[in-house]
Amino acid sequence: MSDAAVVVAGGGLAGISAALALADAGLRVTLLEARGRLGGATYSFQRDGLWLDNGQHVFLRCCTAYRAFIERIGSGDLVTMQRRLDIPVIHPERGVSRLARSDLPAPLHLTRSLAAYRHLGRLDKLRVVRSAAALARLDLGDRSLDEQTFGRWLRDQGVSARALESFWDLIVLPTLNVPCDEASLWQSAMVFQVGLLTDGPAADLGYATVPLGEAHGARAVTALEASGVDVRLHSAISGIERAEADGVQVRVGAESIPTAAVVLAVPHEQAARLVPAGVHANAESFADLEHSPIVNLHVIYDRRVMDHAFAAAVGSPVQWVFDRSAATGLTMGQCLAVSLSGATAYAERPTEELRAMFIPELARVFPKAADAHVTAFYVTREHRATFRPVPGTLRLRPRATTADPRVALAGAWTDTGWPATMEGAVRSGRQAARSVLLALGRERNLPTAA
Ligand SMILES: Cc1cc2nc3c(=O)[nH]c(=O)nc-3n(C[C@H](O)[C@H](O)[C@H](O)COP(=O)(O)OP(=O)(O)OC[C@H]3O[C@@H](n4cnc5c(N)ncnc54)[C@H](O)[C@@H]3O)c2cc1C
Repeated sequence: MSDAAVVVAGGGLAGISAALALADAGLRVTLLEARGRLGGATYSFQRDGLWLDNGQHVFLRCCTAYRAFIERIGSGDLVTMQRRLDIPVIHPERGVSRLARSDLPAPLHLTRSLAAYRHLGRLDKLRVVRSAAALARLDLGDRSLDEQTFGRWLRDQGVSARALESFWDLIVLPTLNVPCDEASLWQSAMVFQVGLLTDGPAADLGYATVPLGEAHGARAVTALEASGVDVRLHSAISGIERAEADGVQVRVGAESIPTAAVVLAVPHEQAARLVPAGVHANAESFADLEHSPIVNLHVIYDRRVMDHAFAAAVGSPVQWVFDRSAATGLTMGQCLAVSLSGATAYAERPTEELRAMFIPELARVFPKAADAHVTAFYVTREHRATFRPVPGTLRLRPRATTADPRVALAGAWTDTGWPATMEGAVRSGRQAARSVLLALGRERNLPTAA
């Protein structure tokens, strides 16, 4: 049993973290990834000599599993995190106002900046405070909260359309990848309770300072190989068969790999197809999880147009904007990554249309952009970026452990409680590793989710 061989299928953050946890527990691990790289939904590519990410990725201080993962793969020096939350929020007419935390304990840590926040009127601010207090009191054990939208609940609290746009959606869109009017109340309450309402530093914001392909994919390969994991790229699994005796057979092309257990860490639609019959009663249900797109615009200017490392915009279709100049390798001018979440309205639009719409908008948000020349404009569209955390989603998300303990599920879409995030992916991988270790009778030093 000491050197039992296990297979992890899928080399996204879920699969990488499962493989590392299993290798750390002393198992012989083979990681099979369909593509020619690791990192899954977080990757980079080169265009005209610049390194672009498929989409800006952000994490919070409360993402403890992801932050430990970053350290584990040796990428601690490739990310940055604010010492304290401080978001410049720009309105084209009203200018910049900041959402920043003080040293007061949560939820009082935001009150000073909320009082000075000029994108909300006095009454709206009072209602933000009142709604936040009500949100903090919601019981996450009550799964009926997953039967209604957050937007509906906020309106019942008297929240105005302006507050929805200038405060609540500012946070909900990038974290849940749907607007308040579509988001599950349960999932929204979870995010606000964990990120903003319980612990002051929880929402301090971080991101990679280099291309994601380097911070995740490349460093992960090194860490996995150093731990003895056999990483096989271009190796899409096509089936899993449970043998009569102990093992499981994993099919890759013409090859059949015998293994003691398998972690299926692929996107949910593939998992529904690959999970062996009888292993998960619920395979059709998780195949029903819907997708929500994310679109990123990568805009290269001939000069600096934004004076912040990142900023959020209200009163404009521009949502969150990051200065990616250094990470892309740009030597002159500025590269802005405009991250558009819940991007159903943009995902199918041609590049020229997005350019005609967003270049003038960026000039409204960043006045210096009006005089600047756009030297390049690229669009990345991730049609299946995340699952849609709409009402009814909670019951579709399966646990890591299936009816056959030799087959475990991982992925940001599994039942971690988190929305589709890097934190959720890493947690899911650790939960799946734990499930496999228990199945193999290894009950000591089990990985925890976080
Ligand atoms: C544009 C964009 C922006 C985002 N922004 C953020 C953000 O700011 N913060 C945040 O926390 N999260 C963000 N996310 C979400 C986050 O990236 C994902 O939740 C997370 O990376 C998912 O990891 P995963 O391992 O669960 O799945 P995936 O990354 O999808 O990994 C699954 C892997 O399985 C492989 N695979 C598929 N089929 C097979 C097969 N048959 N055999 C072997 N391998 C297979 C795939 O190639 C893939 O590598 C964003 C996502 C996108 C797309």
